[in-house]
Amino acid sequence: MYLHIAVPRPLEDTFIYKCPPEMEGQISVGKRVIAPFGRQMVTGYIINTSKELPTHLKPEIKQGQIKPISSILDATPLIDKTMLDLCKWASEYYLFPLGMVLKTALSGIPEEKELRPPKKSYNILDLFKDKTPFADKPRDTVAAPPILTPHQEGVLSTIRESLKKGDFSVHLLHGITGSGKTEIYMHSIDYVTKSGKSSIVLVPEIAITPQLITRFFARFKERVAVLHSGLTHNERIWEWLKIMEGKVDVIIGVRAAVFAPVKNLGLVVIDEEHEHSFKQEDGFRYNARDLAIMRAKLSRASVILGSATPSLESFYNTTTKKYVYLSLPERINRRPLPPVRIVDMRKKEGFSIFTDELLEALKQRLNNGEQSLLFLNRRGFSPFLLCLDCGYSPECPNCSVSLTYHKSDNSLHCHYCDYRITPPDTCSKCSGHKFRAFGAGTQRVEEELKKIIPGIRVVRMDRDTTTKRHSHHQIFKSMENKEADVLIGTQMVTKGLDLPEITLVGVLFADSSLHLPDFRSAERTFQFITQVAGRSGRGDKVGEVIVQTFNPDHYSIRYASMHDFEGFYKEESSFRKTLGYPPYKRLVRILIKGNNKELVESSAERFKAALDEKRREGTDILGPVPAPLIRIRGKFRWHIIMKANDSRTLNRIIKNSLKAFNASSKHKHGLIEIDVDPLNLL
Ligand SMILES: [Zn+2]
Ligand SMILES: [Zn+2]
Ligand SMILES: [Zn+2]
Repeated sequence: MYLHIAVPRPLEDTFIYKCPPEMEGQISVGKRVIAPFGRQMVTGYIINTSKELPTHLKPEIKQGQIKPISSILDATPLIDKTMLDLCKWASEYYLFPLGMVLKTALSGIPEEKELRPPKKSYNILDLFKDKTPFADKPRDTVAAPPILTPHQEGVLSTIRESLKKGDFSVHLLHGITGSGKTEIYMHSIDYVTKSGKSSIVLVPEIAITPQLITRFFARFKERVAVLHSGLTHNERIWEWLKIMEGKVDVIIGVRAAVFAPVKNLGLVVIDEEHEHSFKQEDGFRYNARDLAIMRAKLSRASVILGSATPSLESFYNTTTKKYVYLSLPERINRRPLPPVRIVDMRKKEGFSIFTDELLEALKQRLNNGEQSLLFLNRRGFSPFLLCLDCGYSPECPNCSVSLTYHKSDNSLHCHYCDYRITPPDTCSKCSGHKFRAFGAGTQRVEEELKKIIPGIRVVRMDRDTTTKRHSHHQIFKSMENKEADVLIGTQMVTKGLDLPEITLVGVLFADSSLHLPDFRSAERTFQFITQVAGRSGRGDKVGEVIVQTFNPDHYSIRYASMHDFEGFYKEESSFRKTLGYPPYKRLVRILIKGNNKELVESSAERFKAALDEKRREGTDILGPVPAPLIRIRGKFRWHIIMKANDSRTLNRIIKNSLKAFNASSKHKHGLIEIDVDPLNLL
């Protein structure tokens, strides 16, 4: 018997091994084996078996040259047929080697050992109980579902219809902030569970969506498993085994949970489907949302994509009837959406973080004993230092970006590679001594606010204050216990946060995401503002939002201030159509990177030549040009952007070009990265 084995190496092909006769009885597709590979032993995955040697190999390889595997790792396959089909599809679609895709699917599982339960048992429920805020609050532990609104009832009956059919279907649940999307998820899951099937719920980040998790635990108790990167090795295995053995039927997790070993999948929920964190940005660059939809298709399951600000791609798919459109246009209890006031920063003199309007509103909240949330998408004290004599600004030696100034530990910090130095006394360009910190990040906002309103109690949530395991929890808790008046944060505070005492949301520098060299910058800005505005007035008191901007007339800011998604979609999609961007065209980004500048440049040119040879009518090839971030972690970066009407055409051209390029190239490994449906063009 011959085994077709995929190995986790950057090689496209599967490899043929002999099966020692005494092992033949234990062979099945989806099991892992240990096999010799070159001079090493690797863990490979059985993809197929055959009695004969595949015909295309016969002339080149003699019997004796085919090596036997040395052992079989698993008693039962870790990869079932659907998962294998999904991984094969992903390998083709994302142009990434199958063995590496399978390795990603099984990440967190010990690679060279059999999967065995850890000695100690874990109760994930306990794990979350004391560390999740609100868990001890009656409003979140009520397990009985609340009475649904007529809108919710309507949406649910459509979803139940689909679930009853037991066929593949995708629903886009467009529900404004505070409209009760989670309740829809839970009712749908309940329905699926009762029919004996399982559900997967994908969320952008576990740590910042504790309230959602708490509600799921309250409703489904020990039927829930959680998969996320914060679990310890043993906790993870414990959860994995529970899922494999069918002891749980509701799996909540981040991106990688799309590979959860669920047997009888009935429903996939993707909460905040527009979030970019579903996309893996290195190595196997998959989008968990899109992969989840494919998995549902292979399992004939249903999908619910939920968002208050759907991605243009998903909304477009409802206009072509590929997805079913469902809407929750009202907040629970008919609470109004908070009015948004735009404050024009161009009319203000000098540089100040807070306008009078915002300060006035903050003081008012303070007097009323209510809470405020301030959002800006930049951490640190200030985004750069500037020499006042010559205009030089210290840059990271490894990356082509300015170093962010952190006042708390007096350091200059690179947010791409973690490089850190003490700020220089002397300018390296002109030997001047006058440096000034320009612009503002969350640290500076905190400091200034405390200066202007003495005694105000401020908590800050950004990557710098949340490095410890339970720091999110403590920050939430202090807001919830009203030990703080103001929460200042980066995009972490825009998602899922449900604090009823927040009645004021202030957006500082609303335009900071607007000027990035990325065609999605308007969409991102619209999403940030709409999402963070949605944190205001979720309790019984009416909320308010103040947006400070230098671009008050920009359509993304105007539509966000009117809570008008359809208006934004219309304007943005006509812009995308004119310029030929998604959802009207498919994109692939080819990133060429390496330590040697000349090699990167010449390889980019050669790859472009290969593409030109294979290109077809209706395909655009832009570049090669240096990427906007021309250097990260010491690596030079060039890119080529390709556009076409369908992804299949692009896939074929690139696949053939890769072959031609690799055949004629000495240096190839790690040089070329293919990013299909890229979200990041920097
Ligand atoms: Zn200088
Ligand atoms: Zn930093
Ligand atoms: Zn750096």
